[in-house]
Amino acid sequence: MGDVNKRDYYEVLGISRNATEGDIKSTYRRLAKKYHPDMNRDNPKEATEKFKEMSEAYEVLVDSNKRAQYDRFGHAGVSDAFGKGGFDWSNFTHFSDIRDIFGGFEDFFETGSIFDMFFGGPRRRQRYGRPHRMSGPDIKIKLKLNLKEIAKGVEKKIKYKRLERCPDCGGKGGTSKETCPVCKGTGEIRQARRSLFGQIVNITSCSRCRGEGSVIKNPCRSCGGDGRVKKTATLTVKIPEGVATGNYIPMRGEGNVGPNEGPSGDLIVLIEEKEDDIFERKGNDLYCRVSISFSKAALGGEVDVPTLEGKVRLKIPSGTQSGKLFRLRGKGMPNLQGYGSGDEYVEIIVWTPTKLSSEEKRLIAELSKYESEPPTPKKGFFSKIFGL
Ligand SMILES: [Zn+2]
Ligand SMILES: [Zn+2]
Repeated sequence: MGDVNKRDYYEVLGISRNATEGDIKSTYRRLAKKYHPDMNRDNPKEATEKFKEMSEAYEVLVDSNKRAQYDRFGHAGVSDAFGKGGFDWSNFTHFSDIRDIFGGFEDFFETGSIFDMFFGGPRRRQRYGRPHRMSGPDIKIKLKLNLKEIAKGVEKKIKYKRLERCPDCGGKGGTSKETCPVCKGTGEIRQARRSLFGQIVNITSCSRCRGEGSVIKNPCRSCGGDGRVKKTATLTVKIPEGVATGNYIPMRGEGNVGPNEGPSGDLIVLIEEKEDDIFERKGNDLYCRVSISFSKAALGGEVDVPTLEGKVRLKIPSGTQSGKLFRLRGKGMPNLQGYGSGDEYVEIIVWTPTKLSSEEKRLIAELSKYESEPPTPKKGFFSKIFGL
């Protein structure tokens, strides 16, 4: 197709000719977000067109071979990669790059309105052979764990709802099938419209039969013909020690089962660390604060400090200043990769008493007679805190 009105791909994405693959990816993601139909409810049609144009440009430019062809020969160099009618969604091979934009693990490829808006119905059926079996949507679940569970590793039983194959019809949706009345068995809907450049035929998958060409004659009562029903599933998830917020554990095939007897999606278990009362975690290191009395700071002694495995005694040398950090080697969080552990840092706070008995008052007053003026502290406090 030598369409003279076709815009330059670089211009479509608004990038320069020497943009890197990374530039192309980030630009496309940004634009895809911008033309998300949820953001363009006023003009979904224009957004859809724009998005398609961008996606075509992306399909070519993100692939180094296609890009080289395009750079040398322009649109003529890549038109063979697409069908006779030019680029359509079945030519797009990078859905995974933008999948998360469309509601993350939501059922983007299933029956969602987003899909219908953008792609004119569920995925095209392949030209030959069996219809494409879509796998079911993934399910995302948050799992909150406390520090001790993370430090030791833990097995958690989780309960969640998912679509499973309907037991009454075995996932078939019914007993007998008949030719789809909408597409007359072709699985495709053709819409011709006139435009400035001639007739344009838009072929989309039939949404009634999802491209199958046939529909259930007597839909199963339990699932309404969908072949799937919501069930509560329970599953034991093994969490390795040392995980952190943002880590996730994919459980293959434990998500929703696909429509039309398609395979199951995944269950994605997202780890979230509960805030701890005592410890703050930075990477694999733990930080905590321990108060000591003024006399212990001056004379030295021992103090109990918390660790994940219980209290340990820490020696306080005489003359310990408030803010001093002590390191307990290996008392931090275990490394997720399985070797070694982080450290625990204990910050000493010298506690100034707030309520004094008359005896204490007398002794401190006595002490004040002998005390020398404290020296000016060394600078470096802010640099320590802010890492300047
Ligand atoms: Zn059923
Ligand atoms: Zn149909």
